[in-house]
Amino acid sequence: MRSYSALRSLSRFQSASFLCSGRRAIQTSATRVPDFAFAFDIDGVLLRSSKPIPGAADSLALLKEQNIPFILLTNGGGTHETERVAEISKKLNVPLDSSAIVQSHSPFEQLVKGEDEASALEHKCVLVAGGDGDNCRRVAEQYGFKNVVTPGDIFMANPSVWPFSKNFSSYYKSFARPLPKPLDPTDPVKGLKIDAVFVFNDPRDWALDTQVIMDLLLSSQGHVGTLSAKNGQVDLPNHGYQQDNQPPLYFSNPDLWWAAAYPLPRLGQGGFREALEGVWAATTGGPSKGIELKKTVIGKPYQGTYEFAERQLRRNRARNFGDATDLPPLKRVYMVGDNPESDIRGANSYRSEFGSSWHSILVRTGVYGGGEPVWTPQTIADDVQKGVQWALKASKWL
Ligand SMILES: [Mg+2]
Repeated sequence: MRSYSALRSLSRFQSASFLCSGRRAIQTSATRVPDFAFAFDIDGVLLRSSKPIPGAADSLALLKEQNIPFILLTNGGGTHETERVAEISKKLNVPLDSSAIVQSHSPFEQLVKGEDEASALEHKCVLVAGGDGDNCRRVAEQYGFKNVVTPGDIFMANPSVWPFSKNFSSYYKSFARPLPKPLDPTDPVKGLKIDAVFVFNDPRDWALDTQVIMDLLLSSQGHVGTLSAKNGQVDLPNHGYQQDNQPPLYFSNPDLWWAAAYPLPRLGQGGFREALEGVWAATTGGPSKGIELKKTVIGKPYQGTYEFAERQLRRNRARNFGDATDLPPLKRVYMVGDNPESDIRGANSYRSEFGSSWHSILVRTGVYGGGEPVWTPQTIADDVQKGVQWALKASKWL
């Protein structure tokens, strides 16, 4: 798996403080600045099947009233942060802006400008897979990517790319756009070239997405319709696979399973990734031959996502308390989540470069069904309200 270096350096949000009444609150509570903050998972903590969990709205209202910073940290996505936060604000009756949320794909925005001009993807052509229709394309465009192609665009330009998707033609027709550069079957090098592949959200048509992504991973330099001559050359690293400037591959969410309305958990984006890894291994020889699928996976429980969230939290906190140079350090962040595999594991293993400690609180209102959790939280609370109350006491705030 690649490092997070490309996703690390740039800040993303320019919006005003997430605590809308913050400035006024500073004047009345200037003497008391909390040295702690909260990070909340959303599904199974604040909402369940899109409905508010009892006590969630009151808890957020209390934190806002007390001017205690918090951020929502979710492996969900598929809509822009402004839309998602507006929906949550409405449901929980708490005013929030987009700086209050980190979704699984939020860190991708840093790749628009990259670490330097050479790595910037702003004007390159990127493939965005997953999500309903082309919602994720529109999110990517709001992030600043200028040339975004979906697998549906490629299919509509040449349905023979995956003939079995013809049954879904009316779906693809509803959002497909002409390609920024046409496919050129006689000389593919002159046609469409993809410079990065993003799985933004759970793919809806695993088959088409698998085919299009495999084509790119096996291509020469991302030119659609080519096949790299280096593939399978045993004298090259990784037997020549992904050694020919193929587009890097990014996944936004590692979750294998997720809780939905069906009584049993459903396959998540991690399921799609495992399926793709299986096809990759069958095609190339895979790990048994020492061949890996090079990719970057972000989202909870990974260090980079927590790091991204903490940077965002610190920016919000500094803005909220007036960028004071004598702002006391943020010492503790309470991570409240329902999923031991992502929320608790991530908080327990996160090492903050700023010296804060993350304290995991597992709630019983979501995925966790009782018993010994696979990753042991520092605290278990019945619900988010009890968790928040416990934390406020532990930090001697109440
Ligand atoms: Mg959850």
